[in-house]
Amino acid sequence: MAGSVPSISVVVPCYNEQEGILECHRRLCSVISFLGSWYEIVYVDDGSKDNTAPLLERLYDSDPNITVIELSRNFGHQTAVTAGLEVAKGQIVIIIDSDLQDPPELIPEMIRIWQQGYEVVYGVRDSREGESGFKIWTAKAFYRVINRLSDVEIPIDTGDFRLLDRKAVDAMNRLPERQRLLRGMCSWIGFRQYGLKYARAARFAGTTKYPIRKMLKLALDGVASFSTVPLRLVSIAGLISAIFSVLGIVYALVLRIFTHIWVPGWTLLFIGMLMIGGLQMISLGIVGEYVGRIYTEAKQRPLYFTRSVLHRRGAAEAPKYEDESISVRLN
Ligand code: UDP
Ligand code: MG
Repeated sequence: MAGSVPSISVVVPCYNEQEGILECHRRLCSVISFLGSWYEIVYVDDGSKDNTAPLLERLYDSDPNITVIELSRNFGHQTAVTAGLEVAKGQIVIIIDSDLQDPPELIPEMIRIWQQGYEVVYGVRDSREGESGFKIWTAKAFYRVINRLSDVEIPIDTGDFRLLDRKAVDAMNRLPERQRLLRGMCSWIGFRQYGLKYARAARFAGTTKYPIRKMLKLALDGVASFSTVPLRLVSIAGLISAIFSVLGIVYALVLRIFTHIWVPGWTLLFIGMLMIGGLQMISLGIVGEYVGRIYTEAKQRPLYFTRSVLHRRGAAEAPKYEDESISVRLN
């Protein structure tokens, strides 16, 4: 295995990326096509409202190594990548953003690490250009919270830029959940994993497609899909407030029976009532989060629909990496 270059699929989710997509394709090709192996680039158009889809179709006409999946609407980044993973045929699959924030030039290095026997090579953001202090801060907080609460360790400062071996891709494709946090799932499946540090560039063009609303949803998905700690917190909070209520009852009874100063206790009672009411609301909210999740999972809906899938190359065509005829051009 060592030394040979495997067949490569690159999965690229695109949402309203008309300004950057051609440059993205150029940069990707300039790296991949020189590796000297079978490759395909799978562009997933996630229901773009601009010219991304026609541009991708044009690319498809001009380049035999391209597959284009057009989703029927905007399903979100994580689902778009999932669609790409299901179609990708290569022995290794690389997930990369279409805005060139993840440098394609890192791919040969990732493959080199894969050749050392790692099944997952994930990018770790060493520095981030062109992102606001707020975004960096919230991203950091997100990973800290998730790792504190969840049962699996999601490496800090990772995104979805990563290389997956076929075994890892097959494992990912077997996870059926609807609310997907790929970086968490990818950590959960196990295998030998390697974190490769890189400097995250600024967007080549356009603006972020992750407004606060989507970031919050991703964070919630992460916490609730990988952890039942919030549910336990509810019980602990309930227990604490129950203990305080017992103390309060004893206190009130002592005052009532042995003293005459029991009328002024109203303030304390009032505050106590508000606090317990608030706690109950929060607890209900957290339980509701999980019930909501059970509801969406129970509906068993397909993750996405495609409007069209354009591809010329079948699975049989992707050579296995044991194939010695593949030339070696990594250095
Ligand atoms: N993206 C997508 N669907 C969405 C949002 C984003 O396919 O609903 C794609 C987007 O085109 C980009 C990648 O996901 O290739 C990452 O999005 P973005 O760069 O906006 O996120 P950020 O880098 O700001 O976290
Ligand atoms: Mg980006």
